[in-house]
Amino acid sequence: MKITAIISAAAAAAALATLTAFADAGDVNADRAINVSDVVLVAAHVKGQRALSGEALKNADVNGDNKVNVTDIITIAAHVKGIHRIDGSSSYVEPQPEPEPKGPNIEVINGVTYVDGILIANKTYSLPDNYGWGLTDETLNAFYQMQAGAWQDGISLWICSGFRGYWDQYYLYNNYVARDGKAEADTYSARPGHSEHQTGLAMDLNNASRSFYGTREAAWIADHCAEYGFIIRYPQGKENITGFIYEPWHVRYVGKDLARKITDSGLCLEEYLGIDSYYHY
Ligand SMILES: [Zn+2]
Repeated sequence: MKITAIISAAAAAAALATLTAFADAGDVNADRAINVSDVVLVAAHVKGQRALSGEALKNADVNGDNKVNVTDIITIAAHVKGIHRIDGSSSYVEPQPEPEPKGPNIEVINGVTYVDGILIANKTYSLPDNYGWGLTDETLNAFYQMQAGAWQDGISLWICSGFRGYWDQYYLYNNYVARDGKAEADTYSARPGHSEHQTGLAMDLNNASRSFYGTREAAWIADHCAEYGFIIRYPQGKENITGFIYEPWHVRYVGKDLARKITDSGLCLEEYLGIDSYYHY
């Protein structure tokens, strides 16, 4: 409520011949009328310019919350407008502001970044060069289950690139740079330390090239990978956020619950977690 609304409502109060007994509590300066001077008195107190003591303070606590503050003015105004009774037991409660949207919880442990507990490797967050040893058991088991599920639907899936360590990525990336130049290579290949393949939680399926776009296998993966705990890590239309081209072949293990939530949200992992992905060098 705007202060002007309060003042005009309070002025309207002065014009009213009768007020209920409850409203007497709003007669802060005890002149047997509730008028703008009471509002001014309370406002001055709220601003710390005037102390209210004893009976005056008690009376000024219109809503009975043992504080004299702007909610008392609002309570008076609401009463004057006939919206609210002033009876000590029911009082206007100032709406609480929406809690600030909280940012992601980012932890770095031994050089490894976890965002809300999810291990992250992207263009912003890198991994130490000694990190990783292979696909994790959980990731591999989830893949085997997905592979079996796909087989039931007549789809054959295999891992064409699973874990890659820092130095594997170093040579791979630099080969691409030599072939296509750095700017182009950065759109489809991660710099060493920034590859998700180094996490042991990501893999490329079947054919990691644009010729995989639009295949039956790509469609099956998109439709079903979340059932097994994977997400399409670099979705179509999110290139500017993930920092990578659409890769229908690249899946990232996050567990079934999270995979379902992320997939249903239509967000890429960066959006879902509220983080970015760009090289800071
Ligand atoms: Zn990949």
